Amino acid sequence: MAAALAREIYGPRHNPGTAPDSLITTGGTESNQLALLLARETHGGSVRLVCGANAHHSLARAAWLLGLPDPVVVPAPAGTLHPAALDEVLSHLPGPLLVAATAGTTDAGLIDPLPEIAARCAAHGARLHIDAAYGGGLLFSDRHRTRLAGLDTADTVTLDLHKLGWQPVAAGLLAVKDRRDLTALRHRADYLNAADDTEAGLPDLLGRSLRTTRRPDVLKLAVTLRTLGRSGLGALVDQVCARAREFAALIDEHPGFQLHARPAISTVLFRPTGATDDTVAAVRRALLTDGRAVLGRARLDGRLWLKATLLNPQTGPADLAALLHLVAARQATLVEGHTTR
Ligand SMILES: *Cc1c(COP(=O)(O)O)cnc(C)c1O
Repeated sequence: MAAALAREIYGPRHNPGTAPDSLITTGGTESNQLALLLARETHGGSVRLVCGANAHHSLARAAWLLGLPDPVVVPAPAGTLHPAALDEVLSHLPGPLLVAATAGTTDAGLIDPLPEIAARCAAHGARLHIDAAYGGGLLFSDRHRTRLAGLDTADTVTLDLHKLGWQPVAAGLLAVKDRRDLTALRHRADYLNAADDTEAGLPDLLGRSLRTTRRPDVLKLAVTLRTLGRSGLGALVDQVCARAREFAALIDEHPGFQLHARPAISTVLFRPTGATDDTVAAVRRALLTDGRAVLGRARLDGRLWLKATLLNPQTGPADLAALLHLVAARQATLVEGHTTR
């Protein structure tokens, strides 16, 4: 099952000894940690993380946890890691280097230019990790999977199917291009994986996680894939992406709202036209504490935005229109309360 998901990324034909594989994790955070650990075990403790300012916070934290050098953060004013800016950094840094790119940023759902980043990594001999915790689900969609071109160049890939995969947590994966990288995790505890037991064919799960006792999280993934299949999951991906585009169009047409940009995956950023950042924050908190809506927030282009990451395929256009109405109404009462006080 784990190997099958790795083949979704890296394709079907491989020499068995060096074939791709994947580990089940508790989520994107643990997958990113393992990616940095495998990089450290392959390239040594001086390996330095280079990532965009758009990268997930768990990557820098993993570098800290693993005692790696301070990460180098490449500014990403457009929301994605620019290959030329990365190239500039890679040209001036001594190796070994681990570049982390993102497919589906947390703030805006943007996909870094993966093939260009992969080419720069290859030119400078840097290892590449791609955090596709959010965007990785596009693999299931025949319509959208081409946008992940270049994912198969990464040494390691984070997937997190509690997002575009509709699993309850935990449902993380770390895929590796070459299963030999996993030998770093080999570990022996005689009561679990004695050599004679392993030689007799008993599975050795201790070397596939840093945890010992764990929940069979792969079971629900296997059941989902058996039941819905790739095409079933792909249809859900297409649905939420289409819904996000409709929601963005609704916002764009509404004079009371400003749309940040066309959604790249299913994340829509918007704000009430002319509102201050304080008002945007207050509207979000009020909807949350009223128990009416849970919106995210993101700071981009120097302003605060409300964030709706659409992941529920049951959400219909009427729900989204109602959400917009709710935000407008709550903003109106906040502004009113402010002027009469
Ligand atoms: C969600 C996410 C993570 C963290 O995943 P958890 O399951 O919350 O640990 C990491 N990276 C990206 C890009 C994410 O979207």
